[in-house]
Amino acid sequence: MSTIFSKIIAGKIPARIAYEDDQCLAFHDIQPKAPVHVLIIPKKEIERISASTEQDQPLLGHLLFVAQKIAEEQGLKESGFRLVINNGPDAGESVAHLHVHLLGGRALAWPPG
Ligand code: AMP
Repeated sequence: MSTIFSKIIAGKIPARIAYEDDQCLAFHDIQPKAPVHVLIIPKKEIERISASTEQDQPLLGHLLFVAQKIAEEQGLKESGFRLVINNGPDAGESVAHLHVHLLGGRALAWPPG
């Protein structure tokens, strides 16, 4: 099922790109919840983390590695940051294309709401 994120990958919808390689794309969230709010998504259409397969394991690791590199580029290495993956209705998932939220630039409350 194609989503708005597939259209961003295809360049059909504009986005503020933070990083791109052959496996993934990262762009700034359109409604940022923190001073830095970047979404890291696989180019492969995986609906959510619970829909990933064993074959996806290297790709999932790649997403996390890229997320921490972007955090460093954004100056968050010392201050800290949070990586979030919302999965399903109770988590508030609103786009059915796997995405890692990178949030930082302010103190983040815990536990989340
Ligand atoms: P989630 O609620 O975890 O599914 O997160 C989806 C995120 O995608 C939300 O934070 C939205 O603000 C963000 N979003 C939706 N459409 C766009 C878009 N066109 N460009 C950038 N971010 C978007």
